[in-house]
Amino acid sequence: MRQFKIYNKQEKEITKIICNQCGKEIEVVNGIAKEEVLTVEKQWGYFSDKDTEFHQFDMCEQCYDKLISSFRIPVEIRPE
Ligand SMILES: [Zn+2]
Repeated sequence: MRQFKIYNKQEKEITKIICNQCGKEIEVVNGIAKEEVLTVEKQWGYFSDKDTEFHQFDMCEQCYDKLISSFRIPVEIRPE
């Protein structure tokens, strides 16, 4: 999840990112996260049970590693 400082309707700055899985706070300095996080944003549609819902969450790298270690099929990893 993300917390923002709201300046006006168009401008806001991220002040804090919290891992939705474990609650760890990710330090943010001048709007830039000091650790990598996985951010998932999903607009669910008609063929789901969540039609019209927008879901968003953030996950720290440690929780990401735990999540993918539970996958039956490993993630694809390739060089940048
Ligand atoms: Zn976490």
